[in-house]
Amino acid sequence: MPYLASWATSDRKVLVHLADQAATTFGAHAQRQSSDTESGGILLGCVRGPNLEILHATEPAATDSRFRFLFERSSNNHREIAETFWHQSRGTIRYLGEWHTHPEDLPSPSNIDKTEWSLLAKKRLDNRPLLAIIVGRQGLHLELVFKNGESKVLESL
Ligand SMILES: [Zn+2]
Repeated sequence: MPYLASWATSDRKVLVHLADQAATTFGAHAQRQSSDTESGGILLGCVRGPNLEILHATEPAATDSRFRFLFERSSNNHREIAETFWHQSRGTIRYLGEWHTHPEDLPSPSNIDKTEWSLLAKKRLDNRPLLAIIVGRQGLHLELVFKNGESKVLESL
């Protein structure tokens, strides 16, 4: 089942669009078998006013540690890819956030996820919210996490 491409906050103030490449990467790594390990990467794309367009989701790197329920991003590899996109796009394709998989049909964040996301949001220098995505077997969970600790779950359109 393909993942839905258009998402928004309930007040419709922020729209998020998922490009085919990112949806394909999610589909390739969804935890369909109980033995599949959790995996993930970073989200790269364009910012248009308050709206986000996810153009590229990085593939899990060979150096990432992969566990069943916990994915630890090895930041160097993903950061390198982010910098390459940033330069090649002359600064239009930037870091938007993080994604990882869950062994659930319709995923929801764990307490560890929420803690990690708020730490990542606080660390952002551009003060933009962090976009966090969890990839389930049937659907996605999208959430914007702000520097002040607030967060907004997105719904599909
Ligand atoms: Zn998680």
